[in-house]
Amino acid sequence: MLSHKQLFLLNTAQTSDFPRLLEIEKAEGCYLYSPAGKKYLDLVSGFAVSNLGHRHPKVVKAIKDQVDKYLHVTVYGEYIQAPQVLYAQKLASVLPQSLSSVYFTNSGAEATEGALKLAKKYTNRSHIVSFKNSYHGSTQGALSVMGNEEYKQAYRPLLPDISFIKLNAYADLDIITRQTAAVILETIQGEAGVRVPDKDYLKALRKKCNETGALLIFDEIQTGFGRTGKLFAFENFGVIPDILLMAKGMGGGMPIGAFIASKSIMDVLKDNPILGHITTFGGHPVSCAAGLATLETILSENLIAHVEEKEKLFRSLLTHPKIKEIRGKGLMLCIQLDSFEQVETISKKCVENGIIIDWFLHCDTALRIAPPLIINKKEIELACKVILEALSSL
Ligand code: PLP
Repeated sequence: MLSHKQLFLLNTAQTSDFPRLLEIEKAEGCYLYSPAGKKYLDLVSGFAVSNLGHRHPKVVKAIKDQVDKYLHVTVYGEYIQAPQVLYAQKLASVLPQSLSSVYFTNSGAEATEGALKLAKKYTNRSHIVSFKNSYHGSTQGALSVMGNEEYKQAYRPLLPDISFIKLNAYADLDIITRQTAAVILETIQGEAGVRVPDKDYLKALRKKCNETGALLIFDEIQTGFGRTGKLFAFENFGVIPDILLMAKGMGGGMPIGAFIASKSIMDVLKDNPILGHITTFGGHPVSCAAGLATLETILSENLIAHVEEKEKLFRSLLTHPKIKEIRGKGLMLCIQLDSFEQVETISKKCVENGIIIDWFLHCDTALRIAPPLIINKKEIELACKVILEALSSL
Protein backbone atom coordinates (compact mmCIF):
# COMPACT_ATOMS: atom_id res chain seq x y z
CA MET A 1 0.00 0.00 0.00
CA LEU A 2 1.25 3.49 -0.86
CA SER A 3 1.71 5.98 1.96
CA HIS A 4 -0.38 9.14 2.13
CA LYS A 5 2.72 11.09 1.13
CA GLN A 6 3.20 8.93 -1.98
CA LEU A 7 -0.48 9.31 -2.89
CA PHE A 8 -0.27 13.07 -2.35
CA LEU A 9 2.59 13.28 -4.81
CA LEU A 10 1.04 10.82 -7.27
CA ASN A 11 -2.64 11.70 -7.51
CA THR A 12 -3.04 15.15 -5.99
CA ALA A 13 -2.23 17.99 -8.41
CA GLN A 14 0.94 19.73 -7.33
CA THR A 15 1.40 23.49 -7.32
CA SER A 16 5.18 23.48 -6.78
CA ASP A 17 8.11 21.10 -6.53
CA PHE A 18 8.59 21.95 -2.88
CA PRO A 19 5.34 21.41 -0.95
CA ARG A 20 5.51 21.52 2.87
CA LEU A 21 4.55 17.81 3.09
CA LEU A 22 3.24 18.04 6.64
CA GLU A 23 0.57 15.44 7.23
CA ILE A 24 -2.16 16.71 9.54
CA GLU A 25 -4.38 14.28 11.36
CA LYS A 26 -6.23 16.63 13.65
CA ALA A 27 -6.53 20.36 14.39
CA GLU A 28 -7.89 22.09 17.46
CA GLY A 29 -7.61 25.69 18.67
CA CYS A 30 -4.19 27.09 17.73
CA TYR A 31 -2.68 23.65 17.09
CA LEU A 32 -2.23 21.15 14.27
CA TYR A 33 -1.26 17.54 15.03
CA SER A 34 0.62 15.03 12.86
CA PRO A 35 -0.36 11.33 12.77
CA ALA A 36 2.65 10.66 15.06
CA GLY A 37 1.18 13.12 17.57
CA LYS A 38 3.62 15.98 16.93
CA LYS A 39 2.00 19.27 17.89
CA TYR A 40 2.43 22.46 15.85
CA LEU A 41 1.47 25.96 16.97
CA ASP A 42 -0.16 27.53 13.90
CA LEU A 43 1.06 31.07 13.23
CA VAL A 44 -0.46 31.10 9.75
CA SER A 45 -4.13 30.12 10.43
CA GLY A 46 -4.37 28.24 7.14
CA PHE A 47 -3.57 31.60 5.50
CA ALA A 48 -5.80 33.92 7.53
CA VAL A 49 -8.73 31.50 7.65
CA SER A 50 -8.86 30.10 11.19
CA ASN A 51 -9.26 33.42 12.99
CA LEU A 52 -11.29 31.63 15.68
CA GLY A 53 -8.80 28.79 15.83
CA HIS A 54 -9.37 25.36 14.34
CA ARG A 55 -12.69 23.62 14.97
CA HIS A 56 -14.17 26.20 17.30
CA PRO A 57 -16.93 24.30 19.20
CA LYS A 58 -19.63 26.84 18.27
CA VAL A 59 -18.73 26.56 14.59
CA VAL A 60 -18.62 22.76 14.74
CA LYS A 61 -22.04 22.72 16.42
CA ALA A 62 -23.56 25.04 13.80
CA ILE A 63 -22.18 22.78 11.05
CA LYS A 64 -23.56 19.64 12.68
CA ASP A 65 -26.97 21.23 13.26
CA GLN A 66 -27.20 22.30 9.61
CA VAL A 67 -25.98 18.91 8.30
CA ASP A 68 -28.95 17.37 10.11
CA LYS A 69 -31.37 19.68 8.25
CA TYR A 70 -30.23 19.96 4.62
CA LEU A 71 -27.11 20.25 2.46
CA HIS A 72 -27.30 21.63 -1.08
CA VAL A 73 -30.87 22.17 -2.24
CA THR A 74 -30.65 24.39 -5.32
CA VAL A 75 -28.52 26.98 -7.15
CA TYR A 76 -27.85 30.33 -5.50
CA GLY A 77 -30.61 32.92 -5.44
CA GLU A 78 -33.75 30.79 -5.77
CA TYR A 79 -34.93 29.14 -2.55
CA ILE A 80 -35.08 30.84 0.83
CA GLN A 81 -32.45 29.16 2.98
CA ALA A 82 -32.33 30.29 6.61
CA PRO A 83 -28.52 30.04 7.05
CA GLN A 84 -28.00 32.30 4.01
CA VAL A 85 -30.53 34.97 4.88
CA LEU A 86 -29.55 35.07 8.55
CA TYR A 87 -25.85 35.36 7.72
CA ALA A 88 -26.51 38.08 5.12
CA GLN A 89 -28.62 39.98 7.68
CA LYS A 90 -25.89 39.67 10.32
CA LEU A 91 -23.22 40.90 7.90
CA ALA A 92 -25.39 43.85 6.86
CA SER A 93 -25.97 44.70 10.53
CA VAL A 94 -22.22 45.05 11.24
CA LEU A 95 -21.38 46.94 8.03
CA PRO A 96 -22.10 50.54 6.98
CA GLN A 97 -25.65 51.01 5.72
CA SER A 98 -24.57 51.17 2.07
CA LEU A 99 -23.17 47.63 2.23
CA SER A 100 -26.45 45.80 2.60
CA SER A 101 -26.71 43.35 -0.29
CA VAL A 102 -24.62 40.20 0.03
CA TYR A 103 -23.78 37.91 -2.88
CA PHE A 104 -22.30 34.68 -1.47
CA THR A 105 -19.56 32.84 -3.37
CA ASN A 106 -17.46 29.76 -2.69
CA SER A 107 -14.06 31.44 -2.52
CA GLY A 108 -12.14 34.69 -2.52
CA ALA A 109 -11.30 34.58 -6.23
CA GLU A 110 -14.98 34.16 -7.05
CA ALA A 111 -15.80 37.20 -4.94
CA THR A 112 -13.24 39.15 -6.99
CA GLU A 113 -14.75 37.87 -10.24
CA GLY A 114 -18.26 38.83 -9.19
CA ALA A 115 -17.18 42.30 -8.06
CA LEU A 116 -15.34 43.06 -11.32
CA LYS A 117 -18.39 42.01 -13.34
CA LEU A 118 -20.69 44.02 -11.09
CA ALA A 119 -18.58 47.18 -11.45
CA LYS A 120 -18.45 46.85 -15.24
CA LYS A 121 -22.18 46.31 -15.50
CA TYR A 122 -23.10 49.10 -13.08
CA THR A 123 -20.83 51.74 -14.64
CA ASN A 124 -21.02 50.50 -18.24
CA ARG A 125 -17.24 51.05 -18.33
CA SER A 126 -14.37 48.60 -18.71
CA HIS A 127 -11.20 50.25 -17.36
CA ILE A 128 -10.02 48.77 -14.07
CA VAL A 129 -7.28 50.12 -11.84
CA SER A 130 -5.35 47.75 -9.59
CA PHE A 131 -2.13 47.90 -7.60
CA LYS A 132 1.42 46.71 -8.01
CA ASN A 133 2.07 43.52 -6.03
CA SER A 134 -1.62 42.96 -5.40
CA TYR A 135 -3.25 39.55 -5.07
CA HIS A 136 -6.97 38.95 -5.61
CA GLY A 137 -7.08 35.26 -6.53
CA SER A 138 -5.94 32.90 -9.23
CA THR A 139 -8.85 32.66 -11.70
CA GLN A 140 -8.47 34.55 -14.97
CA GLY A 141 -10.30 37.75 -14.01
CA ALA A 142 -8.59 37.86 -10.62
CA LEU A 143 -5.25 37.06 -12.26
CA SER A 144 -5.81 39.95 -14.66
CA VAL A 145 -5.82 42.39 -11.73
CA MET A 146 -2.85 40.74 -10.01
CA GLY A 147 0.07 43.14 -9.76
CA ASN A 148 2.89 40.72 -10.50
CA GLU A 149 3.68 39.94 -14.14
CA GLU A 150 5.66 36.81 -13.28
CA TYR A 151 2.47 34.90 -12.43
CA LYS A 152 0.52 36.21 -15.43
CA GLN A 153 2.78 35.88 -18.46
CA ALA A 154 2.05 32.19 -19.14
CA TYR A 155 -1.71 32.77 -19.11
CA ARG A 156 -2.19 35.68 -21.52
CA PRO A 157 -4.39 36.93 -23.03
CA LEU A 158 -6.09 38.04 -19.84
CA LEU A 159 -8.64 40.85 -19.33
CA PRO A 160 -7.77 44.02 -21.27
CA ASP A 161 -7.92 47.66 -20.06
CA ILE A 162 -6.26 47.29 -16.67
CA SER A 163 -3.79 49.78 -15.18
CA PHE A 164 -1.51 49.17 -12.22
CA ILE A 165 -0.56 51.91 -9.81
CA LYS A 166 1.70 52.13 -6.75
CA LEU A 167 0.26 52.10 -3.24
CA ASN A 168 0.50 55.48 -1.50
CA ALA A 169 1.63 57.26 -4.70
CA TYR A 170 -0.80 60.17 -4.91
CA ALA A 171 0.23 61.22 -8.43
CA ASP A 172 -0.76 57.80 -9.80
CA LEU A 173 -4.39 58.50 -8.87
CA ASP A 174 -4.67 60.60 -12.04
CA ILE A 175 -5.01 57.36 -13.99
CA ILE A 176 -8.53 57.03 -12.54
CA THR A 177 -10.90 58.76 -15.00
CA ARG A 178 -14.53 58.78 -16.12
CA GLN A 179 -13.69 55.67 -18.15
CA THR A 180 -12.76 53.74 -15.00
CA ALA A 181 -15.27 51.15 -13.84
CA ALA A 182 -13.50 50.28 -10.60
CA VAL A 183 -10.41 50.55 -8.48
CA ILE A 184 -9.62 47.32 -6.64
CA LEU A 185 -7.36 47.40 -3.59
CA GLU A 186 -6.57 45.10 -0.69
CA THR A 187 -7.32 47.40 2.25
CA ILE A 188 -3.99 46.21 3.65
CA GLN A 189 -1.94 44.43 0.99
CA GLY A 190 -1.25 40.84 2.09
CA GLU A 191 0.88 38.97 -0.40
CA ALA A 192 2.92 42.10 -1.12
CA GLY A 193 4.38 41.51 2.37
CA VAL A 194 1.76 43.35 4.44
CA ARG A 195 1.77 46.93 3.15
CA VAL A 196 -0.45 49.34 5.05
CA PRO A 197 -1.79 52.31 3.09
CA ASP A 198 -1.69 55.84 4.51
CA LYS A 199 -5.03 56.98 5.84
CA ASP A 200 -4.84 60.19 3.79
CA TYR A 201 -4.03 58.20 0.68
CA LEU A 202 -7.16 56.07 1.07
CA LYS A 203 -9.19 59.22 1.60
CA ALA A 204 -7.71 60.72 -1.60
CA LEU A 205 -8.50 57.49 -3.44
CA ARG A 206 -12.11 57.59 -2.21
CA LYS A 207 -12.39 61.23 -3.32
CA LYS A 208 -11.03 60.44 -6.78
CA CYS A 209 -13.50 57.58 -7.17
CA ASN A 210 -16.36 59.88 -6.12
CA GLU A 211 -15.27 62.52 -8.64
CA THR A 212 -15.02 60.08 -11.55
CA GLY A 213 -17.85 57.68 -10.71
CA ALA A 214 -15.45 54.74 -10.48
CA LEU A 215 -16.49 52.16 -7.90
CA LEU A 216 -14.08 51.50 -5.06
CA ILE A 217 -13.61 47.80 -4.31
CA PHE A 218 -11.87 46.85 -1.07
CA ASP A 219 -10.58 43.28 -1.00
CA GLU A 220 -10.83 42.23 2.66
CA ILE A 221 -10.43 38.56 1.87
CA GLN A 222 -7.29 38.40 4.02
CA THR A 223 -7.86 41.36 6.33
CA GLY A 224 -11.44 40.64 7.39
CA PHE A 225 -13.02 39.17 10.49
CA GLY A 226 -10.92 40.83 13.14
CA ARG A 227 -7.47 40.14 11.78
CA THR A 228 -6.28 43.76 11.84
CA GLY A 229 -7.86 44.73 15.17
CA LYS A 230 -11.16 45.84 13.62
CA LEU A 231 -13.87 43.59 12.23
CA PHE A 232 -12.91 44.89 8.77
CA ALA A 233 -9.69 46.72 8.00
CA PHE A 234 -11.42 49.68 6.32
CA GLU A 235 -12.63 50.70 9.80
CA ASN A 236 -8.98 51.55 10.60
CA PHE A 237 -9.04 54.22 7.89
CA GLY A 238 -12.56 55.66 7.98
CA VAL A 239 -13.04 55.00 4.26
CA ILE A 240 -16.03 52.99 3.02
CA PRO A 241 -15.85 51.07 -0.26
CA ASP A 242 -18.65 50.65 -2.80
CA ILE A 243 -18.01 46.92 -2.98
CA LEU A 244 -16.49 44.84 -0.20
CA LEU A 245 -14.88 41.42 -0.79
CA MET A 246 -14.53 38.79 1.90
CA ALA A 247 -13.71 35.08 2.20
CA LYS A 248 -11.01 33.18 4.18
CA GLY A 249 -11.92 33.94 7.84
CA MET A 250 -15.56 34.25 6.88
CA GLY A 251 -16.56 30.59 7.29
CA GLY A 252 -14.57 29.60 10.39
CA GLY A 253 -12.80 26.96 8.27
CA MET A 254 -15.60 26.29 5.76
CA PRO A 255 -15.36 27.51 2.14
CA ILE A 256 -17.31 30.70 1.56
CA GLY A 257 -16.78 34.20 0.20
CA ALA A 258 -18.91 37.19 -0.67
CA PHE A 259 -19.04 40.46 -2.55
CA ILE A 260 -21.20 43.04 -0.86
CA ALA A 261 -22.59 46.32 -2.22
CA SER A 262 -25.65 48.54 -1.95
CA LYS A 263 -28.89 47.07 -3.19
CA SER A 264 -29.03 49.57 -6.06
CA ILE A 265 -25.60 48.51 -7.32
CA MET A 266 -26.21 44.80 -6.81
CA ASP A 267 -29.58 44.90 -8.55
CA VAL A 268 -27.92 45.41 -11.96
CA LEU A 269 -27.13 41.68 -11.95
CA LYS A 270 -30.88 40.98 -12.18
CA ASP A 271 -31.62 42.02 -15.74
CA ASN A 272 -30.35 42.68 -19.25
CA PRO A 273 -29.42 39.82 -19.17
CA ILE A 274 -31.22 38.19 -16.25
CA LEU A 275 -29.08 35.91 -14.04
CA GLY A 276 -26.02 38.13 -14.48
CA HIS A 277 -24.02 36.04 -12.06
CA ILE A 278 -24.73 32.38 -11.31
CA THR A 279 -23.23 29.91 -8.87
CA THR A 280 -24.43 26.42 -7.96
CA PHE A 281 -22.79 26.14 -4.57
CA GLY A 282 -22.22 29.80 -3.58
CA GLY A 283 -23.65 30.40 -0.11
CA HIS A 284 -23.76 26.70 0.72
CA PRO A 285 -26.05 26.31 3.75
CA VAL A 286 -23.42 24.51 5.83
CA SER A 287 -20.83 27.21 5.06
CA CYS A 288 -23.34 29.96 5.86
CA ALA A 289 -24.28 28.30 9.16
CA ALA A 290 -20.58 28.06 10.03
CA GLY A 291 -20.05 31.66 8.93
CA LEU A 292 -22.88 33.01 11.03
CA ALA A 293 -21.56 31.13 14.09
CA THR A 294 -18.07 32.46 13.35
CA LEU A 295 -19.14 36.09 13.17
CA GLU A 296 -21.38 35.80 16.25
CA THR A 297 -18.53 34.19 18.19
CA ILE A 298 -15.93 36.77 17.14
CA LEU A 299 -18.31 39.44 18.45
CA SER A 300 -19.64 37.69 21.57
CA GLU A 301 -16.20 36.57 22.77
CA ASN A 302 -14.88 40.08 22.21
CA LEU A 303 -11.83 38.67 20.44
CA ILE A 304 -11.06 41.81 18.48
CA ALA A 305 -10.51 43.83 21.66
CA HIS A 306 -7.31 41.87 22.40
CA VAL A 307 -5.77 41.91 18.92
CA GLU A 308 -3.85 45.15 19.42
CA GLU A 309 -2.24 44.05 22.71
CA LYS A 310 -1.21 40.75 21.04
CA GLU A 311 0.32 42.71 18.15
CA LYS A 312 2.25 44.82 20.69
CA LEU A 313 3.54 41.69 22.43
CA PHE A 314 4.79 40.23 19.13
CA ARG A 315 6.43 43.54 18.22
CA SER A 316 8.10 43.92 21.61
CA LEU A 317 9.47 40.36 21.67
CA LEU A 318 10.60 40.17 18.05
CA THR A 319 13.74 42.26 18.24
CA HIS A 320 16.86 40.85 16.63
CA PRO A 321 19.69 42.30 14.52
CA LYS A 322 18.60 40.13 11.58
CA ILE A 323 15.07 41.62 11.60
CA LYS A 324 15.00 44.66 9.29
CA GLU A 325 11.44 45.68 9.99
CA ILE A 326 8.12 44.41 11.35
CA ARG A 327 5.21 45.60 9.23
CA GLY A 328 1.48 45.17 9.57
CA LYS A 329 -1.53 45.75 11.71
CA GLY A 330 -3.09 43.60 14.42
CA LEU A 331 -2.35 39.92 13.87
CA MET A 332 -1.45 40.41 10.21
CA LEU A 333 2.29 40.87 10.63
CA CYS A 334 5.39 40.52 8.50
CA ILE A 335 8.98 40.06 9.66
CA GLN A 336 11.26 41.53 7.00
CA LEU A 337 14.59 39.71 6.61
CA ASP A 338 17.33 40.03 3.97
CA SER A 339 16.90 37.05 1.69
CA PHE A 340 14.74 34.10 0.73
CA GLU A 341 17.48 31.76 1.97
CA GLN A 342 17.10 33.23 5.47
CA VAL A 343 13.31 32.96 5.29
CA GLU A 344 13.49 29.35 4.11
CA THR A 345 15.97 28.34 6.80
CA ILE A 346 14.01 30.04 9.59
CA SER A 347 10.67 28.62 8.56
CA LYS A 348 12.14 25.10 8.27
CA LYS A 349 13.72 25.40 11.72
CA CYS A 350 10.50 26.75 13.21
CA VAL A 351 8.44 23.90 11.76
CA GLU A 352 10.99 21.38 13.13
CA ASN A 353 10.48 23.03 16.51
CA GLY A 354 6.70 22.96 16.30
CA ILE A 355 5.92 26.50 15.07
CA ILE A 356 4.29 27.00 11.68
CA ILE A 357 5.25 30.19 9.85
CA ASP A 358 5.41 30.94 6.14
CA TRP A 359 6.24 33.67 3.62
CA PHE A 360 4.35 35.74 1.02
CA LEU A 361 3.64 35.19 -2.67
CA HIS A 362 5.12 38.52 -3.79
CA CYS A 363 7.58 38.96 -0.91
CA ASP A 364 9.65 35.87 -0.19
CA THR A 365 12.18 37.75 1.93
CA ALA A 366 9.75 38.14 4.82
CA LEU A 367 8.02 35.84 7.29
CA ARG A 368 4.26 35.74 7.74
CA ILE A 369 2.78 35.95 11.25
CA ALA A 370 -1.01 35.51 11.20
CA PRO A 371 -2.04 33.31 14.13
CA PRO A 372 -5.60 32.58 15.20
CA LEU A 373 -6.93 35.58 17.13
CA ILE A 374 -7.38 33.31 20.16
CA ILE A 375 -3.60 32.85 20.58
CA ASN A 376 -2.60 33.59 24.19
CA LYS A 377 0.36 35.37 25.82
CA LYS A 378 2.24 32.16 26.65
CA GLU A 379 1.87 30.89 23.09
CA ILE A 380 3.10 34.20 21.65
CA GLU A 381 6.11 34.12 24.01
CA LEU A 382 6.93 30.54 23.02
CA ALA A 383 6.55 31.27 19.29
CA CYS A 384 8.79 34.34 19.49
CA LYS A 385 11.43 32.40 21.47
CA VAL A 386 11.57 29.72 18.75
CA ILE A 387 11.75 32.34 15.97
CA LEU A 388 14.53 34.27 17.75
CA GLU A 389 16.54 31.09 18.37
CA ALA A 390 16.22 30.21 14.69
CA LEU A 391 17.37 33.72 13.73
CA SER A 392 20.37 33.46 16.05
CA SER A 393 21.44 30.21 14.44
CA LEU A 394 21.71 31.82 10.96
N1 PLP B 1 -7.69 38.25 -2.23
C1 PLP B 1 -6.75 38.23 -1.27
C2 PLP B 1 -6.32 39.51 -0.63
C3 PLP B 1 -6.17 37.01 -0.89
O1 PLP B 1 -5.21 37.01 0.07
C4 PLP B 1 -6.62 35.83 -1.49
C5 PLP B 1 -6.03 34.53 -1.12
O2 PLP B 1 -4.94 34.43 -0.61
C6 PLP B 1 -7.61 35.89 -2.48
C7 PLP B 1 -8.14 37.12 -2.82
C8 PLP B 1 -8.11 34.65 -3.16
O3 PLP B 1 -8.90 33.89 -2.31
P1 PLP B 1 -9.15 32.34 -2.66
O4 PLP B 1 -7.85 31.62 -2.48
O5 PLP B 1 -10.20 31.91 -1.67
O6 PLP B 1 -9.64 32.29 -4.07
